[in-house]
Amino acid sequence: MRHTIPVPVISGHHLDRFLNLVEISDDGCWYWQGSLVGGYGQFVLNHRKYYAHRISYTAYVGEIPDGLPLDHTCEHRNCVNPEHLEIVTDQENTRRVWQAIKRKA
Ligand SMILES: [Zn+2]
Repeated sequence: MRHTIPVPVISGHHLDRFLNLVEISDDGCWYWQGSLVGGYGQFVLNHRKYYAHRISYTAYVGEIPDGLPLDHTCEHRNCVNPEHLEIVTDQENTRRVWQAIKRKA
């Protein structure tokens, strides 16, 4: 799924509000305490909903190029630790899909 809405860079009181919804766990994950959709955290900003992990990545790492999907290296969808997120390129996505198909065959 493509995320075509660019994610705004949050700072100041928006960032404070964001961090108030995060619980940092001993395992290093930043578990989202706000609402979840499909297991992913949702952050409301200016009456729009954004994926919390995408907000986190944009705030701490940088802009997500071309609305590419982010992958959780820790496999916790509700984790928003920017260090646990990596951009999945189309090429990489295709490779993973092929690997899954090959495993089934
Ligand atoms: Zn994590």
